[in-house]
Amino acid sequence: TLGEGQPWLTGLNAAQCDAVEALEGPLLVLAGAGTGKTRTLMARIAALHFKLGVPTKNILAVTFTNKAAKEMKTRLAVNPFGLEAPMSWMGTFHSLSVKILRRHAELVGLKSNFTILDTDDQLRLLKQQIQATGIDDKRWPPRMLAGLIDQWKNRAWTPDKVPASEAAAFNNRGTEFYAQYQERLRSLNACDFGDLLLHCVTIFRANPDVLAQYQRWFRYILVDEYQDTNVAQYLWLRLLAQGHQNICCVGDDDQSIYGWRGAEVGNILKFEKDFPGAKVIRLEQNYRSTPHILAAASGLIRGNAERLGKTLWTDVPDGEKVRLIGHWDGEEEARWIGEEVESLQRGNARRDPMGLDSMAILVRASHQMRAFEDRFLTIGLPYRVIGGPRFYERLEIRDAMGYFRLAVSPDDDLAFERVVNTPKRGLGDKAVQNIQLEARRLGVNLLEGARSLLARGGITGKGAGQLRLFVENIDRWHKTVLAGPDAPADAVIEPVLPETPAANDLSHVRLAELILEESGYISMWQNDRTPEAEGRLENLKELIKALEQFDSLQGFLEHVSLVMENDSDEAGEKVSIMTLHAAKGLEFPVVFLPGWEEGLFPSQRSIDEAGLKGIEEERRLAYVGITRAEELCIISFASNRRVYGRWQSQMPGRFIDELPAEHVKEVTPPGLMGGGYGAAAMGYGRSDVEERATRADVYNSPGWQRLQNNQAPRRSQAQPRRSITIDAEALSAFTLGERVFNQKFGYGTILAMEGDTFEVDFEKAGVKHVKAGFVTAAAA
Ligand code: ATP
Ligand code: MG
Repeated sequence: TLGEGQPWLTGLNAAQCDAVEALEGPLLVLAGAGTGKTRTLMARIAALHFKLGVPTKNILAVTFTNKAAKEMKTRLAVNPFGLEAPMSWMGTFHSLSVKILRRHAELVGLKSNFTILDTDDQLRLLKQQIQATGIDDKRWPPRMLAGLIDQWKNRAWTPDKVPASEAAAFNNRGTEFYAQYQERLRSLNACDFGDLLLHCVTIFRANPDVLAQYQRWFRYILVDEYQDTNVAQYLWLRLLAQGHQNICCVGDDDQSIYGWRGAEVGNILKFEKDFPGAKVIRLEQNYRSTPHILAAASGLIRGNAERLGKTLWTDVPDGEKVRLIGHWDGEEEARWIGEEVESLQRGNARRDPMGLDSMAILVRASHQMRAFEDRFLTIGLPYRVIGGPRFYERLEIRDAMGYFRLAVSPDDDLAFERVVNTPKRGLGDKAVQNIQLEARRLGVNLLEGARSLLARGGITGKGAGQLRLFVENIDRWHKTVLAGPDAPADAVIEPVLPETPAANDLSHVRLAELILEESGYISMWQNDRTPEAEGRLENLKELIKALEQFDSLQGFLEHVSLVMENDSDEAGEKVSIMTLHAAKGLEFPVVFLPGWEEGLFPSQRSIDEAGLKGIEEERRLAYVGITRAEELCIISFASNRRVYGRWQSQMPGRFIDELPAEHVKEVTPPGLMGGGYGAAAMGYGRSDVEERATRADVYNSPGWQRLQNNQAPRRSQAQPRRSITIDAEALSAFTLGERVFNQKFGYGTILAMEGDTFEVDFEKAGVKHVKAGFVTAAAA
């Protein structure tokens, strides 16, 4: 049988074996998710080593993340691969490039101990450059320039290679700044992330002897997630493989999700051209997901015009359909998922208990994580956030919290230091030092130090005016806090300053918003016209939203310190939370995909974009998401999301409509609705079977309470079928005892009416709660 004497072939199917055995010459494995591309790649490494006797140090293997490299190394060490020798050249493009670059740094004018700049350093350099030329760095922000340069580097354009068509970039100065920046880096003996690859390519191109040395060294090259390589990475590979052409790339055009970062799916097509005679192997059997999950994903991705197309099949039993569930709002969604996770963990008659490690929540945008982190913390559910900082550790969140902390306790010197010059208030290091000295001299906190320094003219220039404003702001915010819900029981309520009229009944939520506005912090990011800034503003909105669930700023700050404490990465089973982008290549028995709403997923940016390119990339992202699931895939959306304290009604995302209906099961919460997605959109997300939603649940839900406060979701302009509208007139059209009809439950009599929810005694279905919009009057 297969595998005897060649254990790495154990269990592989014929096509996979072909891919493992074709060790010499160029090979492209083009196959859908879960078909064993990564596993095949590992088997090839074992085959190269054990069958052909290739030392592992002569095998170059490129993975997409450092984490993937680490995992692969671990798995290679055990059965069926049993590779004991270390894979010293397995890593990401960047980590491999650093290694090469250290040895030949002098060929690009660097020393071998060059430093790699982080984004902050990079921005500071660019900013200095921009300012030196007298250009307004508000209108032409450094971030924008950094993004531009990065794009050029991804395309492997050194300053002299940037085409003339880019001449207008960055106020006609882009190319010039780029060249200058590269010079600056060189004089600092530094390079940025993009340089790592670009310098290697430059070295290979200009020094055939060096290139030949590496071509001999890397006798075999393997690349995972090939669909996401950019031009510079492609050139890097092509140069190294040119001699022996022993290159094997595995990928899936349907999973190309880094177009926004310069990845080019076209590289897959170029492969056959650049490596003539390349063998192409397709794998069609999926080993990861059940048929319903696979069919749902395949059906969805068929909506993309630009794709190579492929068949996928599996021979495992059908399993469960993809579950689709609508929630009232984002908090309900988080609550429901928390409950569902716990219920899966407990198990039941039909399903064995599952470990938390086997469950993941994959979000489109990182700001979505907050609701889950909060909820899981509240119910004590262990979780980990993969790839990227947890919500409360993000820069903008920590800044904002710095302001809140100062407002609550002006004694908080750490917070003072953090925000005193953020946004920039014209206070240099010297000025900040002087404040510290003054505070120490008087034995007071920094706020008082600053006040005293100002009083005696110890700070001059434009910084003085701004610092004064900062101090006054803190005073006023603090007074407002004392007057508000944060007031200690026996506090003397001082009259608030006239600047904030009605401050007495200012809610802590509104106060927090004011703080971020008055401090200039929000406008700092608003003026920062870069993609990153947008995400930060989103996160700040999310922060304000989180505040609504607490009674006071103080209570909220306490909660956050708990979240932070929960940080330690102690062992034990945990639910994973990550973005869809970070989930590439991974698999979990249970996958939750929340937030499938227009504007969130697909993202607003992709919707606004001309043409379909953006939407197609989003659809691939959805495909990646669904295909992470092995047994259970649960897609959800919420009808309402609070954005900056205001309700916004959401429409289920278009991808929901595109899922093939026969593979999807709508989970409709009990008693609250009729049929159809529109109905599901109104639900409270309780299990259909257990019928747990009581009226008390409904009325206690934050969504409902909002409604009572007349903050109904704004009506959406389009497609009323799939959105909620609360119509007072429609309500008054019904009377107690009236006979009504609902699509799902049939005929019934109204027993009670509360707001827009009716309790109806259905003739067949029994007593249910339904929204008024989903019943029509019926003849008695
Ligand atoms: P993705 O496109 O998501 O990266 P992939 O094509 O790389 O997916 P793998 O992760 O290699 O797929 O494999 C998916 C799952 O199927 C893994 O759990 C793997 O161990 C399993 N698998 C792959 N091939 C076989 C096989 N021949 N027999 C049994 N299980 C297999
Ligand atoms: Mg893979």
